[in-house]
Amino acid sequence: MDRRENKRKLENVEVECEPRNKLTSPASSLPTDPALYTGPFPFYGRPSELGCFSLDAQRQYHGDAQALRYYSPPPTNDQGPNFDLRDGYPDRYQPRDEELQEGLDHLLHWLLDHRGKLEGGPGWLAGAIVTWRGHLTKLLTTPYEQQEGWQLAASRFQGTLYLSEVETPAARAQRLARPPLLRELMYMGYKFEQYMCADKPGSFPDPSGEVNTNVAFCSVLRSRLGNHRLLFSGEVDCMDPRAPCTQPPACYVELKTSKEMHRPGHWRNFYRHKLLKWWAQSFLLGVPNVVAGFRNPEGFVCSLKTFPTMEMFEYVRNDRDGWNPSVCMNFCAAFLSFAQNTVVQDDPRLVYLFSWEPGSPVTVSKYQDAPYAFLPTWYVEAVTRDLPSAPKTPSPKD
Ligand code: GDP
Ligand code: MG
Repeated sequence: MDRRENKRKLENVEVECEPRNKLTSPASSLPTDPALYTGPFPFYGRPSELGCFSLDAQRQYHGDAQALRYYSPPPTNDQGPNFDLRDGYPDRYQPRDEELQEGLDHLLHWLLDHRGKLEGGPGWLAGAIVTWRGHLTKLLTTPYEQQEGWQLAASRFQGTLYLSEVETPAARAQRLARPPLLRELMYMGYKFEQYMCADKPGSFPDPSGEVNTNVAFCSVLRSRLGNHRLLFSGEVDCMDPRAPCTQPPACYVELKTSKEMHRPGHWRNFYRHKLLKWWAQSFLLGVPNVVAGFRNPEGFVCSLKTFPTMEMFEYVRNDRDGWNPSVCMNFCAAFLSFAQNTVVQDDPRLVYLFSWEPGSPVTVSKYQDAPYAFLPTWYVEAVTRDLPSAPKTPSPKD
């Protein structure tokens, strides 16, 4: 298929609209076939960090970097690492309560504290999309995803489009039935972070403590994809105090674990599937390096490898069954346009639910209030109370 044909198809991705009063009826759809989204890489601005926040061991919000950890890899002079990722499981594991659906709450908390100080003024935010980085990652990988669908709830409020993921019934069922081995594997990923990170720059990791997955450091960034302004936040594993550029997000490092591989076919699969997800997640936030720990069947990490985010595509560039960054970004841009054009009513209690299952197009239906409305009353009321347009007159008490 040539480019022009693709472009024509993309332009035809518009949508028959159903009557607006028909709540919960699908109004339109967006196809996800990779062939529709080839073509030049769209504009994606270098993400710039606006601020950050931390969640503590009790999952409480703090408007600072207290949960940020520092990259501290083992010395490279000896035989390499020997991290026992199963150490401490399950006795030193405090997993986050996954029944608590937090939606965008922590990000909205940050936004409430900082929206008056955003560069570009209130007008900038009114034209922006606010979401988690993880939601954008799912959009980027959608044209290649063959296993897991997603649902994204969208509401427009004072111009801004908010996107918040909804756990699908299938994902919930899988989570509740998660096999013990998978639970342990999740622990092992966090344990690897503990072996690789110190609490202070220049100090050393302490793997004797607990692994508490309530704790998180989140960076808040702005960027632009095509003509879409983005304000999003993502969890960052650590910062490298010895990075060539100490300015965030260029100093951030993403840590991952993966199975040790011994055959070329294993590596192929790894490049086709895992590296796509790693690329999407780190590229969006501007994280330059992903450090992988490869674990053996006994759960020990014996080797490390750094994957520069900007070099990941090279592993699949000549692979017919590989992925293409342009497809990922073009699809994401097309979805954001689709969402902007669909979510027409400005009302925090109205939700447009975008649903996708592999092999099908993205569909949308419309709901009011519970269970899908996700903008919390404390946020809506605080923002409504001092509309930026309302003149601030000093009260007699001031
Ligand atoms: P990621 O890219 O998937 O890791 O997600 P983000 O970096 O966008 O994280 C956004 C927020 O969601 C952070 O507060 C994370 O701690 C939280 N988070 C990330 N993954 C999960 C998950 O699997 N379940 C739950 N409940 N929260 C998560
Ligand atoms: Mg990680």
